[in-house]
Amino acid sequence: MEKEDFEKIFKRYLEKIQIDIEKEKIEKFYKYMNILLEWNKNINLTAITNPEEIILKHFIDSLTIERYINRSESIIDIGTGAGFPGIPLKIFREDITVTLVDSLNKRIKFLEYVIDKLNLKNIQAIHGRAEELGKNKNYREKYDIATSRAVANLSTLSEYLIPFIKINGRCICMKGPDVEEEIKNGKNAIKVLGGKIIKNDFLTLPNSDIKRNIITIKKLEKTPIKYPRKPGTPSKEPIA
Ligand code: SAM
Repeated sequence: MEKEDFEKIFKRYLEKIQIDIEKEKIEKFYKYMNILLEWNKNINLTAITNPEEIILKHFIDSLTIERYINRSESIIDIGTGAGFPGIPLKIFREDITVTLVDSLNKRIKFLEYVIDKLNLKNIQAIHGRAEELGKNKNYREKYDIATSRAVANLSTLSEYLIPFIKINGRCICMKGPDVEEEIKNGKNAIKVLGGKIIKNDFLTLPNSDIKRNIITIKKLEKTPIKYPRKPGTPSKEPIA
C-alpha cells in the first residue's frame, strides 16, 4: 500500500477512536507495517497480511487502550508476539516506558529490529516466559501496568500479569466479546494473586463488528511468593 493511502485510511480510523496523531508517527506506523510484512514472509508473525486489516486489527485495536495509561507510566506487555499492543502504544506515547516480553526468540529479534529502525526510545524486548520473569526481582512488582492481548484465559493471564505490577498498579486485559464465563472463572485467581477487577469496558472497533472487552484489574496486595508457578502450570492448571 502506498504511504498516502495508508495515511488516509489510518487517519480515518484514528478519528473514530478520537486520536489525533502527528505525521511523523504515522510514518513510523507505515514503516512498522512494511517491516512486519517483509519479516512475515520468513517467520510466523501474523496471520493478518492485508494492510487495511493490519491498520484496524493490530494498530487501532492496540491504540484503544492508550487512554488507560497515565503520563510517564511503565508498561510490560506479556506475550507481545509481533509487538501488539506494546509497539503501537510506544509509537503514539513517547512519554511511557515499555517492556515487551515473548517466549519466542525469533519474535524478539524482530522486535529489536523494529525498535532500532523506528528509533524508539525507552523500550526493550525481552526473551522469556512470564512465569520465569515474574519471579525475577528485576521485573517483579516493578511496573505501573501489565497488559496483554490474545495470550490466555483470565485466570492464567492473571498469574502471568499480576506479579509484575506494583501495589496500586493495573492490569489492562484485552479480551474478545464473551468474557462473562472467564470473569466468573478468574475471580478467585485474581483475588489470590492480590488483585481485584475494577472495570470492564465494552467497545466495538470502528467500521466493523469486532467486539472487545477491556478488563482492568487493580493490585491491592502483594502477590504471594509462590506465584507465578513453574512454566506451563498456570495454563495447565489455572487457579480455580
Ligand atoms: N499479543 C500479540 C497479539 O495480540 O498479536 C500476540 C498474541 S499470540 C496469539 C500469543 C503470544 O504469546 C505468542 O507470541 C507466544 O509466544 C506468547 N506467549 C505465550 N505464552 C507465553 C508465556 N507464558 N510467556 C511469554 N510469552 C508467551
